[in-house]
Amino acid sequence: MEQEKIEIIEVGPRDGFQNVSQFIPTNIKLAIIDRLVKSGLNNIQITSFVHPKAIPQMKDAKEVTQFCLEKYPNINLFALVPNLFGAKAAVEYGLTEITYVISVSETHNRKNVKRTHDESFEELSEILRLFPTVKVNLDVATTFGCPYEGMYSIKTVMEFLERAYKTGVRSFNLCDTVGLADPILVKKVIKNVLTRFSDCEIQVHIHDTRNMGMVNSLAAIECGINKVQTAIGGLGGCPFAPGASGNTSTEDFAYMLNKMGYETGVDSDLIINTAKFLRENVDGNYSGHQIFINKNKVSTQ
Ligand code: ZN
Repeated sequence: MEQEKIEIIEVGPRDGFQNVSQFIPTNIKLAIIDRLVKSGLNNIQITSFVHPKAIPQMKDAKEVTQFCLEKYPNINLFALVPNLFGAKAAVEYGLTEITYVISVSETHNRKNVKRTHDESFEELSEILRLFPTVKVNLDVATTFGCPYEGMYSIKTVMEFLERAYKTGVRSFNLCDTVGLADPILVKKVIKNVLTRFSDCEIQVHIHDTRNMGMVNSLAAIECGINKVQTAIGGLGGCPFAPGASGNTSTEDFAYMLNKMGYETGVDSDLIINTAKFLRENVDGNYSGHQIFINKNKVSTQ
């Protein structure tokens, strides 16, 4: 039987790094991205084109983008853009894929990007209109619940996606921004979304707030999702969402999928080595495990 392919999309260099308070030198960022590529990851969110005053960690977005585009022509590289200004910069520096973000919860959206739903959807439409050849993903923040508005009905999520669909966007990333999902909820949402939006690309981005990143991501895979976002070391969080912790760790998730027989393309030991290099160079909150498959390389760090 042919192995089922699951694409692990690495968001550590953006979602992970932006939650590290001390500036990570650009050469260290590039060294980590290089190790991610060598570990077998083919799809990497490398940075965010956000105002450097808002998130100083991303002030080297242009350098990181230019370097990576030149060095990895065969890797799918993309960036987060919080607004039209960021989208213009990302495209100007050569990216052909960008991610825009709107929260299902309008309260969270106002706190995160300082916009109403109307303003965000208008801006998304403008980005799609201005860059018809650029792939635009929509991060659907707080899909599985909001720290301010609580849990909402499937209807609320579906109406939000209908509105987004009308703008022309066809790639949705369902984000458990603060870790409120559980496997039953994930399955319920995904089944509805896959049925209604069968012509769209659907990804998930699950936070590991209560050690549920793995089970929730796996629940999504069991419903037919084959693109899952994770972050090396389990770095990440959401600076605007109280209580948010890191993302699902790439090394643990890759290990689990490889062990289960899924084809990820990610080498379980190389990705742990990458996480080890990250820990040695960047001070952050880590959750991934440092247990190698190859016994000669066993580390208990
Ligand atoms: Zn995240």
